[in-house]
Amino acid sequence: MPEELAVVEQILSANDRIASENHKLLERHGVLAVNIMASPGAGKTSLILRSIEGLRGRLRVGVIEGDVAGRVDADKVAETGSPVVQINTGGGCHLDAPQVSSALERLPLDEIDLLFIENVGNLICPTGFALGEHLNVMIAHVPEGDDKPIKYPGMFTVVDALILNKVDLMPYVDFSHEAFQTAFRALNARAPLFDVSCRTGEGIPAWMEWLQSQK
Ligand code: MG
Ligand code: ZN
Repeated sequence: MPEELAVVEQILSANDRIASENHKLLERHGVLAVNIMASPGAGKTSLILRSIEGLRGRLRVGVIEGDVAGRVDADKVAETGSPVVQINTGGGCHLDAPQVSSALERLPLDEIDLLFIENVGNLICPTGFALGEHLNVMIAHVPEGDDKPIKYPGMFTVVDALILNKVDLMPYVDFSHEAFQTAFRALNARAPLFDVSCRTGEGIPAWMEWLQSQK
């Protein structure tokens, strides 16, 4: 194996080892962890806020916010009363297992049933780094176009659920739901697709129901 490739392999296996420790820790505390991935601006934080609201009184939600910089999203989550930890990757374009491990140390895991891990906005490399999650969920959004499954097949292939956000914008944007769905199904036959609008709340109940069924 060329030396550079060997180094990448080592980093990945170290990441996988810590991810599996994270997973065991979550299991011991009865926490279901959901890794949320999307491009920037797709509505990851909006979906998390809607979900916290929708699950109130049913599941206790905790959040890990991954961003390159700042804590604007963590502040929004904190306003809901849910425990939240912000990770700043300082330029890194995805979360890794060691970052999630240090965030887990700062969360009250016995007071959480469901943990959202909001990954850094990026459609490519987050899928390459296991975090210890139980479920991988992707959010696509109407304004980014219906061709994303064709251009970024990797993420669409591995996800356990796909959310199409901002469906309220469909009348104003050239977006073929049929083309989108066909391209997605060519890659992934099993993951449910939820059409939602985090702005209007449309489609959120079906997503809530599915999420609860995974617990
Ligand atoms: Mg966000
Ligand atoms: Zn990356």
